[in-house]
Amino acid sequence: MYSIHNLFRQVLTAACPLCGLTAGAGDLCTGCLRDVLRMNQDGRWCMQCAVRVSCAARLCAQCLNTCPAFDRTVAAIDYAYPGAMLIRGLKERGQLAQANMFARFLTRTINAHPQSLPRLNALVPIPSSAASLRKRGFNPAAEIARALRPALRVPLQQSWLRRTRESDLQKTLDFEARRKSVQGLYVCDQVVPPIWIGVVDDVLTSGSTMHEASLALKRAGALGVVALVAARATW
Ligand SMILES: [Zn+2]
Ligand SMILES: [Zn+2]
Repeated sequence: MYSIHNLFRQVLTAACPLCGLTAGAGDLCTGCLRDVLRMNQDGRWCMQCAVRVSCAARLCAQCLNTCPAFDRTVAAIDYAYPGAMLIRGLKERGQLAQANMFARFLTRTINAHPQSLPRLNALVPIPSSAASLRKRGFNPAAEIARALRPALRVPLQQSWLRRTRESDLQKTLDFEARRKSVQGLYVCDQVVPPIWIGVVDDVLTSGSTMHEASLALKRAGALGVVALVAARATW
């Protein structure tokens, strides 16, 4: 089914959602792909949280200090202009086609990843708050995970993470306050086999949410977690 979609996209053309030039249907034009996909850019990224690092360090200072519970991160784009417009299209304007686009970006990035990744045996999206679900009518992370599943041929386990409360992350907080505000936010109610899990989210900012989700899955038995995020904040 996925390959039929790919075939249609190669045959059909549409306007690139970022610049308006001709692109494959549901895709960016060649120039925008070159500009926004991290795999097409020079640079080094922290192996654990995918923040940009300026030297040959494998880990950033924050990962060395805080040891997040997720082991690796794959980020398709920077959460910065112009690629961030695609995230806003998905999250603020309900453009669900962008979830398919990000799934394709992530698949390409995973396949081109310079350091080989552990084989994933499950995909788990970060659950939305009830308020976000009501507002948007969908969970962006779950939509990306659903679109990613056939390409990676990994089962989707949407029930493995449950929110323990409904308060949303306050985006204005500093790192330490964010970390505290999401402590114990997720739980996994079942025993998970000792497998590697791809935890999917739309944007990784401080990493606090991903840390809590990964902690819950590891406490339930998961061996390791690879964060699969459409975009990585650059600050
Ligand atoms: Zn373009
Ligand atoms: Zn890091």
